[in-house]
Amino acid sequence: MSEQQQFDVVVIGAGPAGYHAAIRAAQLGLKTACIDAALGKDGKPALGGTCLRVGCIPSKALLDSSRQFWNMGHIFDQHGISFDKPAIDVKKMVARKDGIVKQFTGGIAALFKANKITAFYGFGQLQPGNIVKVKQHDGSEVELKGTNVILAAGSDSIELPFAKFGEHIIDNVGALDLEAVPKRLGVIGAGVIGLELGSVWKRLGAEVTILEGLPNFLAAADGEVAKVAAREFKKQGLDIKLGCKCTATEVKKDGVHIRYTDDKGAAQELVVDKLLVAVGRRAATKGLLADGTGVRINDRGQIEVDAHCHTGVDGVWAVGDCVRGPMLAHKGFEEGIAVAELIAGLPGHVNFDTIPWVIYTEPEIAWVGKTEEQLKADGIPYKAGSFPFAAVGRAVAMAEPAGFVKVLAHAETDTILGMHLVGVNVSELVHEGVLAMEFKGSADDLARICHAHPSLSEAVHDAAMAVHKRAIHKAN
Ligand SMILES: Cc1cc2nc3c(=O)[nH]c(=O)nc-3n(C[C@H](O)[C@H](O)[C@H](O)COP(=O)(O)OP(=O)(O)OC[C@H]3O[C@@H](n4cnc5c(N)ncnc54)[C@H](O)[C@@H]3O)c2cc1C
Repeated sequence: MSEQQQFDVVVIGAGPAGYHAAIRAAQLGLKTACIDAALGKDGKPALGGTCLRVGCIPSKALLDSSRQFWNMGHIFDQHGISFDKPAIDVKKMVARKDGIVKQFTGGIAALFKANKITAFYGFGQLQPGNIVKVKQHDGSEVELKGTNVILAAGSDSIELPFAKFGEHIIDNVGALDLEAVPKRLGVIGAGVIGLELGSVWKRLGAEVTILEGLPNFLAAADGEVAKVAAREFKKQGLDIKLGCKCTATEVKKDGVHIRYTDDKGAAQELVVDKLLVAVGRRAATKGLLADGTGVRINDRGQIEVDAHCHTGVDGVWAVGDCVRGPMLAHKGFEEGIAVAELIAGLPGHVNFDTIPWVIYTEPEIAWVGKTEEQLKADGIPYKAGSFPFAAVGRAVAMAEPAGFVKVLAHAETDTILGMHLVGVNVSELVHEGVLAMEFKGSADDLARICHAHPSLSEAVHDAAMAVHKRAIHKAN
């Protein structure tokens, strides 16, 4: 073991939460180290966490490739464009994705260098007294002492006891790296990851069956949004079965056999070539904490923190997927930045009420704030205004008329309480709601803001106007 090295801030984990914390800490003049254990497909250290290696970015790369392919077969004809049968070279598509991953993981290494952050490549473990022991990939060990330590260990896929990961039963990592389009793809879990990765392979020609345990589709989303999304997915041929309880799997010669009971309690069996298990993720705290650190793990396996991401142990913080709150990269970004600022004596803060949610399916789904269902349950009086993309010139010109925007505002104060969107590019449009809510804006504020014509954002504008029954482009 070499001599102990001293830092103002030691970050364990260089995913979205950890690298944001490290870079912001370094910007604020703090001597910062960041440790990450991950290796890329080439066996070399790769910074950026789940998000850059096997999550947000690679999934969006494949979603985009598969969308182009799908459009060739299903949309181009409407534009009068014809060609011979489209073909997909899956290896080339995956290689493109890998190139993007390499570009971005390498980008984090470059940012660390530019910000004079010392990177350690290996596994870090917090010891009592804010000491972090690092087992580096070359077998050597180093010991770091941080005035502050930020735990940003992220999350791992949950494996079902009756569906162990292997060649045929896969998680997101496997589903992002298939070498060919499976004829039949089964997915357990109709959450964000199941829907996005299921969509990728469906668009490329797989028969996709998604088995979801809950009786309601996309229970976290606004009910009307979920209904439209379910209708559009059905049109695309995604077979989503709700209320299914999977009980066993068996890999046989003809494929993976999945036994489940359906929504009527009847025993069923599904046979697929690949089975993607996407039932959620859990905090990656295995081996992270030595005995006696005082850091507590809750019954969901997450590191216990207060509203400011402090663990209750002097100088020890935790951010991102390994703590409570939504498992979203941008939630981790904000927490990482806020903690670095708090350490530097600045008023770091995360507004959990304005974190946007996005599902990058076709149509996209996005929201911020409360759903109608939540407002009703909380007894909050509200008014709703919605506007369909079918009445938005730009959406129709793009041959993307599906979906709508809905604005929810307090019935008395008119303050915007939520915005719910399903349709083309709503991953971008939702930020108008985020911005309005962050500034405590009202539906009337949004209605009085000039929006470019023709643009998709006109759906937001008219939806805000519809709250007061004065939408121009539809009957109120
Ligand atoms: C398929 C998929 C698609 C997704 N798409 C989106 C999306 O579109 N938008 C979105 O917001 N979110 C998305 N997510 C979720 C997003 O990836 C996570 O919320 C985000 O990566 C969490 O960031 P993090 O920094 O907390 O953890 P992670 O990204 O998991 O990073 C943690 C890092 O810490 C390292 N580490 C852990 N323990 C140790 C240790 N003891 N020592 C050293 N290193 C350690 C890990 O190797 C890892 O590199 C997606 C996830 C998946 C799986």
